[in-house]
Amino acid sequence: MTQTKTQVKNIAKKFVIANWKMHGNLKQNQALFEAYIQTLSGLKDTQVVVCVPYPYLAQAQSLLQGSGIAWGAQNMGKNEDGPFTGEVSATMLCDFGCEYVILGHSERATAYCESDENIAQKFMMAKDHGITPVLCVGETLIEREAGVMEMVVGKQLDTIIEMYGAEVFIDTVISYEPIWAIGTGLAATPDQAKAMHKFIRGKIASLNPDAAKSLKILYGGSVNPQNAVQLFVVQDIDGGLIGRCSLNAQEFEMICRATEV
Ligand code: PEP
Repeated sequence: MTQTKTQVKNIAKKFVIANWKMHGNLKQNQALFEAYIQTLSGLKDTQVVVCVPYPYLAQAQSLLQGSGIAWGAQNMGKNEDGPFTGEVSATMLCDFGCEYVILGHSERATAYCESDENIAQKFMMAKDHGITPVLCVGETLIEREAGVMEMVVGKQLDTIIEMYGAEVFIDTVISYEPIWAIGTGLAATPDQAKAMHKFIRGKIASLNPDAAKSLKILYGGSVNPQNAVQLFVVQDIDGGLIGRCSLNAQEFEMICRATEV
């Protein structure tokens, strides 16, 4: 078992993480970064993070440095280095000032058949390099309709717990992302999200209360300016992971401000 370097950070109360997915170009990004800086640098209790495609990490670093807005990647290789064509390591992310990395996003898990074990190894690798992992968990619509969503999410967490212990969740971020809600315009209801967030925190708390306290649990899946407040006021929802609306500076600002009402 790899020993985690316990990173005790002065972690913000709330998080809003933009997932730009495979969108953008140098010119569009510059405009979006500038709009983010202008509208979001002064948030009091919320850490804003932008997860960009790998080629734009240098641009994020040069434009966001000193703004209070952090940046990160959308994936990472599980190995330190070596003959892994197309992969990007944790050390490489550190070279570009990345403080966060999204891991296990369902779009990757589905398209590239990523296993829970792989994701767990990446999670540990990120922690070992001082990068905060943003672990995505969530169920399909069929699993929700069958009522097995907690079992599914529980198993995703169990893989990490069995490999590295619950302590590894100290100062990390989990994003509950029901797969049926991502990019569909159909967000989970506050009650559905509340129940799952309570389940996740409770599960970690039963194993390591400190980890459960410091853990941030975000909701992701069709968050927009209309539903953000109702979701973010729910107990155990510590902010959001935002896809589509993060590409629109005005909508993203409204969502970020919804964490501070
Ligand atoms: C996501 O990709 O993580 C996501 C939540 O996307 P969207 O906000 O577009 O549903």
